[in-house]
Amino acid sequence: MAEYNSSAIEEFSDIWVFCEQREGKLMPTDFELISEGRKLADQRGSKLIGLLLGGEGICEAAKELGGYGADKVIVVEDPALAVYTNEAYTNVVCDIIMEKKPEVLLIGASNIGRDLGPRCAARLHTGLTADCTHLDINMNTYVDFLDKNSNVDVANTQFKMEDVNMKMTRPAFGGHLMATIICPRFRPCMATVRPGVLKKADFDQAKADACEIEIIKPQIDPSNIHEKVIEVVKEAKEIVDLVGADVVVSIGNGASKDVETAKKLAQELADALGGGVVGSSRALVDAGLMDADRQVGQTGKTVHPKVYVALGISGAIQHKAGMDNSELIIAVNKNENEPIFEVADYGLVGDLFKIVPEMIEAIKAR
Ligand SMILES: Cc1cc2nc3c(=O)[nH]c(=O)nc-3n(C[C@H](O)[C@H](O)[C@H](O)COP(=O)(O)OP(=O)(O)OC[C@H]3O[C@@H](n4cnc5c(N)ncnc54)[C@H](O)[C@@H]3O)c2cc1C
Repeated sequence: MAEYNSSAIEEFSDIWVFCEQREGKLMPTDFELISEGRKLADQRGSKLIGLLLGGEGICEAAKELGGYGADKVIVVEDPALAVYTNEAYTNVVCDIIMEKKPEVLLIGASNIGRDLGPRCAARLHTGLTADCTHLDINMNTYVDFLDKNSNVDVANTQFKMEDVNMKMTRPAFGGHLMATIICPRFRPCMATVRPGVLKKADFDQAKADACEIEIIKPQIDPSNIHEKVIEVVKEAKEIVDLVGADVVVSIGNGASKDVETAKKLAQELADALGGGVVGSSRALVDAGLMDADRQVGQTGKTVHPKVYVALGISGAIQHKAGMDNSELIIAVNKNENEPIFEVADYGLVGDLFKIVPEMIEAIKAR
């Protein structure tokens, strides 16, 4: 292997996305990251390459990534990679990166991505920005982003327009401000990105057909792997697809006096609006009244459904960070001065236990 020096930044090129699979199936975040990676590769004038690790036959899944914008997918097939383990994946990912030297590596901020990313970054001696919500390479698009989403006076600020470092933006200080971070001295520039934040492009069959696939059979030395998956036991509970849902009805602390009734009402409202799911603010999760996988917000899921209903939720900045990109927001709250009404398209002031049954009845009547 050629000598590897993460500070020789001129030797690195192309935008890479680590594509996660479970049981041989690609994850929704893969398509979001590939779609975003396409934009970054176009800004940089470079190639977009997916990196997919898995067991025998995983290459069957790879072409689909081309449909969302990957020029090429590097597929690493080995029975030892069928189920994720930190050591095997870190060894393989780092070996390939040291050999091929990508400029950027994006990873989904899933449980696997949050485990794999930091270990690879440490081994590769480079920087990683975790939990990003926005990415740019081109300075013009970054300045445009600042203009629309921040209070920076862009007209009177001097920017280094030739800067080609990836600009990685993420919430900081409990979500009270957004920080943009760069990794100017080392490559690859690594970022984990929250599932559900970035938009998936439309699938294009012609691009999928044109996508190049490179299959690598890795040399995995069993003596370097100290973990072994003996059995995968799935938690026996209802899976909630908050991120992919068209309708999300969330309940907050305002429902705490009778969470079971509120949950039932929220599900009925979600069904009346069209097969939606019930989400929650963190207050109810922290109180042990709702499951953590239903939490919407900065430390929960990011959703952008067609309709988001907030019942008894004040609209703290950390909650809004997970839902304010919803197409239509309806808020029900006793207090008309709560910040949730700042992002709501429709606001109903009053007791949710009285208003929600009326909403359900009115929707059913139509
Ligand atoms: C680092 C960090 C990360 C965080 N991450 C998240 C996150 O991911 N998601 C999240 O949600 N929060 C998060 N939080 C917590 C957040 O700051 C708020 O504390 C939380 O969102 C409040 O939840 P809530 O709106 O349900 O409760 P409250 O703020 O207590 O609001 C309850 C609301 O219900 C209304 N109400 C009361 N009774 C009724 C009724 N009968 N009918 C109608 N309305 C009623 C009240 O007027 C009030 O507006 C985070 C905080 C920190 C510091």
